[in-house]
Amino acid sequence: MKNNTDEDTSFRDRLTTVSDEGDRVWVYAKKPKGNFYNYRKILAFFLLAFLFIAPHIKVHGEQFMLFNIIERKFVIFGVIFWPQDFHLFVLAMITMIVFVVLFTVIYGRLFCGWVCPQTIFMEFIFRQIEWLIDGNPQAQRKLKKSPLNAEKVFKRLLKHSIYYLISLIIAFTFLSYILGVEQVKEFIVAGPAANMGGFIGIFVFSFVFYFIFGWFREQVCTIACPYGRLQGVMLDNNSMVVAYDYLRGEPRGPLNKNENQGDCIACQACVVVCPTGIDIRNGTQLECINCTACIDACDAVMTRVKKPKGLIRLASETSIKEGKKHKLNTRAIAYSVVLTILISLVAYLFSVRTDIETTILRAPGTLYQETEDSYTNLYNIEIVNKSREEFPISVKLLDGNGTIQIIGGDITAKKGELTKSMFLILIKKKDLHSSKNSVKIGIYKEDQLIEEIPSTFVGPNKLDRK
Ligand code: SF4
Ligand code: SF4
Repeated sequence: MKNNTDEDTSFRDRLTTVSDEGDRVWVYAKKPKGNFYNYRKILAFFLLAFLFIAPHIKVHGEQFMLFNIIERKFVIFGVIFWPQDFHLFVLAMITMIVFVVLFTVIYGRLFCGWVCPQTIFMEFIFRQIEWLIDGNPQAQRKLKKSPLNAEKVFKRLLKHSIYYLISLIIAFTFLSYILGVEQVKEFIVAGPAANMGGFIGIFVFSFVFYFIFGWFREQVCTIACPYGRLQGVMLDNNSMVVAYDYLRGEPRGPLNKNENQGDCIACQACVVVCPTGIDIRNGTQLECINCTACIDACDAVMTRVKKPKGLIRLASETSIKEGKKHKLNTRAIAYSVVLTILISLVAYLFSVRTDIETTILRAPGTLYQETEDSYTNLYNIEIVNKSREEFPISVKLLDGNGTIQIIGGDITAKKGELTKSMFLILIKKKDLHSSKNSVKIGIYKEDQLIEEIPSTFVGPNKLDRK
C-alpha cells in the first residue's frame, strides 16, 4: 500500500521491535478504548470462559472437550471420536486449512487480533496485569529506567509471580484438554514424588507460557507464528485489512497548521496503542495483527477534532486507492460461499455419524451349502462400537423367508472396539427361486433396529432354469 508522502519505506527493512544495534525494543502499548475494543473484550471474555470451563463440563460422564493423543481418544462437544472416525478428522483438518486460507484472503488477519489465544492471553490477561501494577506506558518506561529500589523490586516480584501463577493455570488447563481433567487432578493430589513425569510436563508447559507472555510477547506474532509469516502470500489488494486512508489523511501535520493539510493531525494516538509497535500510516505491514486498536484511537481523535471517523478503518488497499467504500467483490462472495459449503459438509458428516458401524461381507471362497431342505450362505460381520457402552447385537433377516444363525453364540459389541463374528443365512429350498437373491439384513441393538444392510444370497444355477 502507498504510504506517507515522503515515500520513506525504510520501516520495511527492519522490525519495529528490534533496534539498529539488534537489541529488543520493548513495546509499551497504551490501553485502548473504544467500540472495537469493547467488542473484543466481550469476545475475549467468552473465549476465555470457554477455555477454562470446558474441561470441567461432563456430558454422559465424558469430558466436554478432550484431545487425548496418547490414548487416541477425542471428545468434541461430549461426542466421542475413535480412531475409526479418523477420516472425519482428516476432512475437518483439510477444511480448516482451506477455511483459514480463504478467510484470510477475504477478511485479512482478523483471526489474529480477535480470536487467537496468543492475542487474547496477551492483551486481555497479561497486559491488563501490567497496566494495573506498572501503570500506563510512561510509568512503565520510568520504572524500567529507575534504579533497583524497593518499589521496583516489589512491582517486579508481584507482576512476575502473578504471570507465573497464570502460566501455571494455563498449563494445567491445556494438560486437562490432553490428559483429561481427572488425570491432572490426580497429579496434583498425588504430588511430584508419585508422578514426577507429569510434574516435569506441567513445569515445562508453565515455563513456556511464562516465557511467551512475560518476555517473548508480540514477537510470537511478528517472528514465530507461521500463519503471520504467510500473510504476504495470502493477502492481496482486495483483502480487508486495517488501513490508513492516506488520500484523506495526507499531508499530515498539527491541527490547523496550513490550509492544504490532510485529516491526520500527526498525534501518534494510533501508534502508541499498537501492541506490535508499528505505525499503520506506513501501510499494511506483516506485524499488523488487525486488532483494530488504532481504529478506536483514531476515531476518538477524529471525534475530538470534529472530523468524520474512519481515517483508519477496515478496508482493502483497492478501496482506499480508489477512494471508495470497501465492498465484498464477486471473488470474496464466491469464496464465502465455498467456505459455507465446506463447513456445512463437515457439519453434515459429523451429524450423520452413527455410534455403530457394521460391515457385512459374504465369506470369501464360499458360494452356498446345501442341506436336506435348505441352502445356506456364510457371512462375516464386523461391528465398530463407538459409544460409551457395551451391548448385545442381534442380526435378523428383514425380507424373504430365511432365518439367521450366529456362529459362536451371541454377539456383544464391546465399547470402543471392533467386534468380529460370522453368521449363516438359511433359506428353504422351496422358497429360493433364483441363483442370486437380494437380501436385507437388520442390525439390532437390543430390540432397536439401528442399521439395515443390503447383501446377496446365492443358490445353485439350476434354479434359474426353472
Ligand atoms: S490517530 Fe489518526 S490523526 Fe492521529 S496520527 Fe494516527 S492517523 Fe493521524
Ligand atoms: S496497526 Fe492497528 S490493527 Fe495493526 S496491530 Fe497495530 S493497532 Fe492493531
